[in-house]
Amino acid sequence: MSEAPIRLNSVICSIATAAREARRDPSSVTLVAASKGRTAQEIEELIAAGQKDFGESRIQEALAKWPRLIARHPRVRLHFLGRLQSNKAGEAVKLFDVIHSVDRRSLVDALAAAARKSGRSPTIYVQVNIGEEEQKGGVAIAAMPALLDEARAASLSVEGLMAIPPQGLEPSPYFALLAKLARRCGLKGLSMGMSGDHREAVMLGATMVRIGSALFEEEAAQI
Ligand SMILES: *Cc1c(COP(=O)(O)O)cnc(C)c1O
Repeated sequence: MSEAPIRLNSVICSIATAAREARRDPSSVTLVAASKGRTAQEIEELIAAGQKDFGESRIQEALAKWPRLIARHPRVRLHFLGRLQSNKAGEAVKLFDVIHSVDRRSLVDALAAAARKSGRSPTIYVQVNIGEEEQKGGVAIAAMPALLDEARAASLSVEGLMAIPPQGLEPSPYFALLAKLARRCGLKGLSMGMSGDHREAVMLGATMVRIGSALFEEEAAQI
């Protein structure tokens, strides 16, 4: 028998426990299953166990896997989590309901043009380079408000901010900073927290956690 329902349940419980500790309603946190590199079969098992939101990180892989899965499971909500090239904006807008990684003006323009053309308007998260790291995706903290204005002016529906804290450092200060930036900008969505740090993220206000290994891998299930 598949272990998927057990792993899913364990992650849901962990999120709910952190939410209650922070006196938050557990239903205010959406679990996004990060399914990059996972097979359609593995994904089907999670859907059968009740999971509805899935996130992918590469357009080509998503195009190969998801059109058939969505045809079979039309209620699934698909999120894009990875770096998005502007020339893939058209495909992204057609396939995804939420895009978490909008981090520059050229991408805002490409998504706005693609949305006009296709008549589909995905929900947008602006990704912030919260640790100010060289190689990391995300807009610089200081440049975020201007990018947000541009996205709003382009009629994109921006719901919140997304970030991945620097590896190997205590994540909580970065989650707290992202929450503060979102509050200042009047944004209610906070996409933060992965398998290893979702409890801290939920304690600090995450409304979406993006979880891969804890949902799909045997050893990671003991969280
Ligand atoms: C893969 C991925 C995740 C999930 O990471 P895990 O550590 O496996 O939970 C979350 N966010 C992004 C952007 C990812 O690419």
